[in-house]
Amino acid sequence: VSVFEAVENLPLDPIFALSAAYVADADSNKINLGIGAYRDNDGKPWVLPVVRQVEQSLLNDKSLNHEYLAIDGLRTFTDASAKMILGSESIAVKEKRFLGVQQISGTGAVRLGSDFLFKINKNATVYISDPTWGNHLQIFGDSGFTVKTYKYWNAATRGLAFDEFLESLKNAPLGSIFVLHACAHNPTGVDPTHEQWKQIAAVIKERKHFPFFDCAYQGFASGSLAQDAWAVRYFVESGFEIFVAQSYSKNFGLYSERCGCLTVVTSTEQQAINVRSQLCRLNRSSISNPPAYGARIVNAVLNDPTLFTEWEENLRTMAHRIIKMRSECVRHLTDLKTPGSWDHITSQIGMFSYTGLTKAQVKVIKEKFHVYMTDNGRISMAGLNEGNVKRFAEAVDYVVR
Ligand code: PLP
Repeated sequence: VSVFEAVENLPLDPIFALSAAYVADADSNKINLGIGAYRDNDGKPWVLPVVRQVEQSLLNDKSLNHEYLAIDGLRTFTDASAKMILGSESIAVKEKRFLGVQQISGTGAVRLGSDFLFKINKNATVYISDPTWGNHLQIFGDSGFTVKTYKYWNAATRGLAFDEFLESLKNAPLGSIFVLHACAHNPTGVDPTHEQWKQIAAVIKERKHFPFFDCAYQGFASGSLAQDAWAVRYFVESGFEIFVAQSYSKNFGLYSERCGCLTVVTSTEQQAINVRSQLCRLNRSSISNPPAYGARIVNAVLNDPTLFTEWEENLRTMAHRIIKMRSECVRHLTDLKTPGSWDHITSQIGMFSYTGLTKAQVKVIKEKFHVYMTDNGRISMAGLNEGNVKRFAEAVDYVVR
């Protein structure tokens, strides 16, 4: 008798299945708007010039070896990572009430935070936005939590369902965990305004909820690191303890190197020491210690003013090309007199746009035009370029008529 007898075959992960379908499509005009990975204007993956430069110097640095990192990773990287999101002038940094633990990119950082919170507070309910990044539900669920959703998207206005969001915050049991996208919400591309964040923070404080930020796109939303960190910094200035899962997949283009950090703000320096020790314990039993390659690259850039300036320039290149594709897309739809309003494509920010296309329209666009996007009508703007944006607009025009 087999121990695997009752094991079911699960469906493929939707995003990775979509990429596989795209690869298998022989059409020369196919367009991949599924996966959230940056492409240049030729539709190719882009190694940031600053990353190439650092890789060269790492290769020539004979002092480096392949010894293990510490359990919580490369400390100069995690410190710099925390300062990048909190701001080096942050009150939490000044009071040493912060820590960073390196993990397997943003995903690993979310999971580490989730596992830790489950250890200390099993009965809390975790609230994730509806919709959200496809992995949130399974990460928090796999840690053991009961996961519920808060309404985030208003289909009629193609914007934030702010009132419903506030209602969920008010009605959730005291001390719930709210997963918040720090910037460039995935999949909607819609972020609260500063004024709305202030109201969100006020209710979170009143209800004693715990804000767990997921920050996978710092610098990608606006092109400015500080601007994209606004919400996180506001919460810290307002006296919150927070978690921030930071990913360097998108803003450094280091997807497969799995470079990320769980940054934590506590109330006291001693708590930061205690929490670090617990997170180390969890790292030890899951990954033992994190990988060095990506962290060394990010570490070099974050700790060198010249490289940092170059990186900011590279970030702006990516952010601005995406912003340009938003306006190009809308320009073509306007030229085609496509029915409906498409302003949301230019008002949404970050890597994605939530087009409002239905599942049925997404199916036709794939079968007839070889354009690949997720069933919820989300497109990765980075997959558009000067060579395919017109064709994409024509496909949209066809399906909405
Ligand atoms: N969180 C959000 C909201 C994301 O969109 C992503 C990636 O798409 C991640 C986390 C994690 O990405 P990674 O594990 O590659 O850093």
